[in-house]
Amino acid sequence: MKITRVLVYQIDLPLTHPYWLSGGRLKFETLDATFVQVETDAGLIGWGEGTPWGHTYLPAHGPGIRAGLSILAPHLIGVDPRSPEAVMQIMDLQLPGHPYVKSAIDVACWDILGQFANMPIWQLLGGDAPNEVLINSSISTGTPEDMLALILAAADKGYTVHSAKVGGTDVGLDIERIDMISASLPKGHKVTFDVNRAWQPAVAIEVLNSVKARDWVEQPCQTLDQCAHVAARVSNPIMLDECMSDFNDHLEAWKSSACEGVKVKPNRLGGLTKARQVRDFGVAVGWQMHIEDVGGSALADTAALHLAASTPAPNRLASWLSHDHLSVDPVSGQGVRNLGGHVVPPSLPGLGVTPDPDMLGAPVAVYS
Ligand code: MG
Repeated sequence: MKITRVLVYQIDLPLTHPYWLSGGRLKFETLDATFVQVETDAGLIGWGEGTPWGHTYLPAHGPGIRAGLSILAPHLIGVDPRSPEAVMQIMDLQLPGHPYVKSAIDVACWDILGQFANMPIWQLLGGDAPNEVLINSSISTGTPEDMLALILAAADKGYTVHSAKVGGTDVGLDIERIDMISASLPKGHKVTFDVNRAWQPAVAIEVLNSVKARDWVEQPCQTLDQCAHVAARVSNPIMLDECMSDFNDHLEAWKSSACEGVKVKPNRLGGLTKARQVRDFGVAVGWQMHIEDVGGSALADTAALHLAASTPAPNRLASWLSHDHLSVDPVSGQGVRNLGGHVVPPSLPGLGVTPDPDMLGAPVAVYS
């Protein structure tokens, strides 16, 4: 089987409400999504999506994906898409780094492999069943009272796991946010406090040694070394996210005891092929992981949730649905959807999601 054509589509995905991160330093209103359609001489068609969370969250941006694809796509014509590892080697040779450029192509190849094998991606990735995956709410930074109100509203929709965004310039307010939310959670609910790298190490140590809460704390500082410094001096379990760009970062995090868990995000790491390597490493060392994508429609969410559903239950905490924050749905009700606090991955062959052609419009680039 050979790839014959790669079609690239661009669509804006507006958020239902503006979203604030990192103590209000970063604001997001629209995501720039790139959809990739990979065609083959066997008639099978694969889909993938690359949607950074704006251009300030990570070193990734929508136009960068399409610029990178103009370099990569011509090298993929004639290649067998049923070997995502071999396709990744070609992409890494032709464009070192830039993992976020590669995830949509990689997911489309897994989609084709699954259709060829007549198996859903969760099964190709080692899963035994379309396992339920808990999903977590995502609570934008605000006053402690406003954040608690959002958590209670999420609880009404079935969410039992929450990610509360903290990390302002006011240390006292962060201590108040963390302790009030932790103490007021509905019975049996769990929360992670996501700092989104806003604290200097001394601030992180001060806040976390002042709060009573012993919940997970995510990405307290900018770099892996700073987070490792903090992890050695606080008693909260630490989850790492933005500073984890490639496999070596995960190896370093393990060696330096920097965390007890990581976020595994295909678009940040370069697709399912590399996310799977990290997932397997995390299982081997006993990490607890959140497996989800950086952003995007239910197509990107579904690709990530196939990996989550195929991960042993003790090694995964919960996953997040980016598409729950969007006011448009380019995959019309398909893929993973909130079933009252959890999702189930599709059991159709491959990815199990096909975009609505009317919503994507004409391709912005075609490579053949
Ligand atoms: Mg995070």
